[in-house]
Amino acid sequence: MDRSSAENCLLCAAERATAWHYEDDECWVADCLVCATPMVVWRTHGLPEAVDEVRLLSHLERVASERYGGEGFWIDGERRRIPDHWHAHARPAGGFFDPASELYGRYG
Ligand SMILES: [Zn+2]
Ligand SMILES: [Zn+2]
Repeated sequence: MDRSSAENCLLCAAERATAWHYEDDECWVADCLVCATPMVVWRTHGLPEAVDEVRLLSHLERVASERYGGEGFWIDGERRRIPDHWHAHARPAGGFFDPASELYGRYG
């Protein structure tokens, strides 16, 4: 399988398998299927300019502060499973998974 292709990309498919919190022309914010934390996903398969990244992250920060409180989360910009399609997680302070995830408490 060609991992650099958009064809089999889960993020390009954008299936609404979890709660969606926000969407616009360039991105969407939904709970991650694995982590159950809010995640922002760029609609384009690839990596945005730094200036665009700041704007995209602002949507994630707004959703995350509603759930975890203004100081209650951290932005995890590392793309572990899908490195070539830009996305970022907001994770609860001091943790990795949301308490709603069955993996909660496994790491961090
Ligand atoms: Zn993609
Ligand atoms: Zn995740």
